[in-house]
Amino acid sequence: MLLLNPGPVTLTERVRRSLLQTDLCHRESEFYDLQDEARARLLEVYDLDPAQWSAVLMTGSGTAAVESMIAALVPQQGKLLVVQNGVYGERIASIAKQYGIAHDVLDHDWMQAPDPARIAAQLDADRTITHVAVIHHETTTGRLNNLCTLSALCHARGVQMLVDGVSSFGAESIDFVSSPIAAVAATANKCLHGVPGAAFVIVKREALAQAVSRTYYLDLKRLASLQDQRNTPFTPSVHAYYALVEALCEFVDEGGLKARHARYEALAEQVRAGLAALGVEPALPPEQSSVVLRAYRLPTGVTYEQLHDGLKAQGFVIYAGQGGLSAQLFRISTMGAIEPGDIERLLQAFGQLLQ
Ligand SMILES: *Cc1c(COP(=O)(O)O)cnc(C)c1O
Repeated sequence: MLLLNPGPVTLTERVRRSLLQTDLCHRESEFYDLQDEARARLLEVYDLDPAQWSAVLMTGSGTAAVESMIAALVPQQGKLLVVQNGVYGERIASIAKQYGIAHDVLDHDWMQAPDPARIAAQLDADRTITHVAVIHHETTTGRLNNLCTLSALCHARGVQMLVDGVSSFGAESIDFVSSPIAAVAATANKCLHGVPGAAFVIVKREALAQAVSRTYYLDLKRLASLQDQRNTPFTPSVHAYYALVEALCEFVDEGGLKARHARYEALAEQVRAGLAALGVEPALPPEQSSVVLRAYRLPTGVTYEQLHDGLKAQGFVIYAGQGGLSAQLFRISTMGAIEPGDIERLLQAFGQLLQ
């Protein structure tokens, strides 16, 4: 079965085999070597200086990392502005609410890009806002939200950014150095091609020094400080860490961030062109989309279930639209061990189904 859903991804054989390594006690030096290597390699994905940035690992899915970041980095007296244009923006607002963090939500229609003028007006109207949360790649629609525009707005006002990079880390560029990003949350099993169970926050050490403890298990500050001392508070998903390190080695061997971006872009364009030839339209133009996943309009007279079941019978798992978009859209991700030949077969299957 080929997974074209936005994580977990189809594994390469190399990563799958890495799960068969020797059992490790998480209180032995071998585990701390593994943890150290994962943390160092995560920073290398974006060439980050370990003196300024920390990669904090945790056991959980991408949402655990997002929750850990939000719960830790908005100070007790601070306020969060959530830029919302999809399911994952909504999720950050729910997390802020759950922890009683002061916040406002700047709602957008899910098909729309964040509106810089509205964001600027909100930041100017409410000078108590200390942090802006944004989804880099809003997987709901496949839209790549423009971090540069938002960075400039935040920078000019001394506001820090908390970024959900769960479905973009490793494939889309992020300017960590000149933007006011305090942290980016992500996971092992999307663009990095690891297995589910390991997630992480890339956080500025300065921001970490001021972090607060609102949660017990996902406490970013404690996780970071213990990991810096070659320690861990709880039992980590050791095998998921093995896979993450192997996936990061493979990532480097394949040429790193630029190469992964180029690989996804070629696959996404192959899907777009092939579907266009069958009369299936993308929900957004390529220049507004990520290379990771794209949403397409369901052809008239075809339900998602028919499309999904027909493709699954031929070995492909596609993904439904979320929320109100489920009756209009379907999504295709090209993360994981997917080759141009796979996409060719996918397009043939589409062609047969749509006839
Ligand atoms: C996948 C995803 C998440 C987290 O999902 P999990 O199921 O918790 O791994 C968060 N944000 C975005 C943008 C995502 O694509």
